[in-house]
Amino acid sequence: MAEEKKPSDSMSLAMLEDMASCGLETTWDRYEKQLPMCGFGKSGLCCRHCNMGPCQVNPFGGEPKTGVCGADADTIVARGFVRVIAGGTSAHSDHGRAVCELVIATAKGEAPGYEIKDTKKLNAIAQTMGIDPSGKSKEDLALAVGEMALAEFGKPHGHQIMTTRAPKARQEIWKKLGILPRSIDREVVEAMHRTSMGVDQDYHSLLLHGQRMSLADGWGGSMLGTELQDILFGTPKPVLGEINLGVLKADKVNVIVHGHEPILSEMVALASQDPELLKEAEAVGAKGIVVAGICCTANELLIRHGIPVAGHMKMQELAIATGAVDAMVVDVQCIMQGDVALAAKFHTRCITTSPKARIRGAQHIEFEEHHALDTARKIVREAIAAFPKRDQARVKIPQDSSAAIAGFSHEAIKYMLGGSFRASYRPLNENIINGRIRGVAGVVGCTQPKIAKGEQPYLELVKELISNDVLVVETGCAALECGRSGFLLPEFQEAAGPGLREVCETVGMPPVLHAGSCVDNSRILIACTEMVHEGGLGDDISSLPVAGACFEWMHEKAIAIGQYFVSSGVFTAFGITLPVYGSPNVVKYLTQEIEGETGGKWAFGLTASGMAAAMIDHINAKRAALGIDKPGERVLYDMEARRQLRF
Ligand code: SF4
Ligand code: SF4
Repeated sequence: MAEEKKPSDSMSLAMLEDMASCGLETTWDRYEKQLPMCGFGKSGLCCRHCNMGPCQVNPFGGEPKTGVCGADADTIVARGFVRVIAGGTSAHSDHGRAVCELVIATAKGEAPGYEIKDTKKLNAIAQTMGIDPSGKSKEDLALAVGEMALAEFGKPHGHQIMTTRAPKARQEIWKKLGILPRSIDREVVEAMHRTSMGVDQDYHSLLLHGQRMSLADGWGGSMLGTELQDILFGTPKPVLGEINLGVLKADKVNVIVHGHEPILSEMVALASQDPELLKEAEAVGAKGIVVAGICCTANELLIRHGIPVAGHMKMQELAIATGAVDAMVVDVQCIMQGDVALAAKFHTRCITTSPKARIRGAQHIEFEEHHALDTARKIVREAIAAFPKRDQARVKIPQDSSAAIAGFSHEAIKYMLGGSFRASYRPLNENIINGRIRGVAGVVGCTQPKIAKGEQPYLELVKELISNDVLVVETGCAALECGRSGFLLPEFQEAAGPGLREVCETVGMPPVLHAGSCVDNSRILIACTEMVHEGGLGDDISSLPVAGACFEWMHEKAIAIGQYFVSSGVFTAFGITLPVYGSPNVVKYLTQEIEGETGGKWAFGLTASGMAAAMIDHINAKRAALGIDKPGERVLYDMEARRQLRF
């Protein structure tokens, strides 16, 4: 049989060729200039944690075998890995903290323009936190929830409150291993301390702390960020959107919002509909204002409002190169400094908005919640002012875009499966047990230029999974990459295996569900927990026939996410290798021994088809362990049995 043609992104290839012919540098060019990349860095064998170094250890067993202080390869690699998790945890959690502060300000009436939108979720989270909602106005309740959530970052005693949502068996594993996370800031501070010169020099001890910190991210900072964003902006439900550069319009003012926190982009989107600003846009010859997202800001706006998406991480320069972006408005994370230099070659205004993320050469309009809408209006006015300066001869917007359905929060999945009166995960569990659905895969994370121009490994991976009846849930840039290729539409059921297709047709859902942004990977943790609580698939996340994947990981956040999934009991595969190869002991621990402790494990350095095969093998093994690998219906837990499972 002829091998199936690999997917190829002809739009990006054509644009990159055009940019090269115009002398415009991109991230791929800069990547080429970095080659060959340092082998010590790639394998994790360099250390510059003190000024006796920097030290490098010989990866082939020769001298030097240790750093100046005597730290060996295991210690150096483990310390580096833990610091990567610290970076990722900090990024997600600082995002989460900003949301908590905004909930408090909104509840106090100090953040005009924002409101408490989802009172149902507010009540649910209050109950998880042990706050009695009765008799409280929504503002009072939001204030109590916001204050308690904010305290999770620095409380001196106790553990992360959201971990109580995990299956009881999972909580016991964390307690036994001593990795139940304490306050988020404490875990990060302790990680930096432990990994500094002369402190923790036992790779297993270091990696256990790395796990505890990652759990403070997934079941702490990220989860608080997601839930409180839902309280403020609404819990996502399926919504139709459009993804790819074709969403930009030649005759309209185009504002790109890029970064991560919806705090800013929600207001920019609102300002773009202001009749006064629309009139101003008309006055400069524009037929309207388009707001389009990039990266996880895009995901946040897409899942709640269906606001169009221009692209994912490695498309940010392509967007500017259309010549039609009037303002590139950024907040935090995944913003390339190279955008500013590229924007300077066009009329595009690059506007930074966060005091935490300034970029030399960019215009800075500081955003703060007390005057959010006014600031957003000011930003949109900058874009309107730039519009007449566009060089129309250089405007080249590709026509490519695809419709996409997004917004599959775990609540939406529950509702979709069971309806409003009997919303539950039971139909999903039943279809896994009867074998129509083999299992569930989370495909999440970044895109980046180490993947050759035009290659689209996420498409290959996801196609392989769904054709084997594996339901795919996506977040982050992976979701956008699949979305711009039409994977997030019910019509894509055609590519699914017969069992999955039947379920998708019955429910009317795509076989690939877009669940949100990077912090929204916490939604997948809760979905897994719901599956456990529903019964019939074991008493812990590690029993479920599920697996996770990130092919083009780039940001430290991806490693933090991968680790909290592994530490929650999930087999997690990454495409590009992790910087741990310098220590066979660390590799063995992360890919094998950790499974004996947490039930999850890592795999890395796989091709897309190898990754799909590894995930399917893992799912099959879990099915066999549950005794559901043979055809036949299985009795589900009754209410009493399910009650026993809850904490
Ligand atoms: S901590 Fe040890 S290995 Fe690291 S730079 Fe200092 S002396 Fe070298
Ligand atoms: S998925 Fe990765 S590249 Fe994309 S926005 Fe998130 S961290 Fe950045």
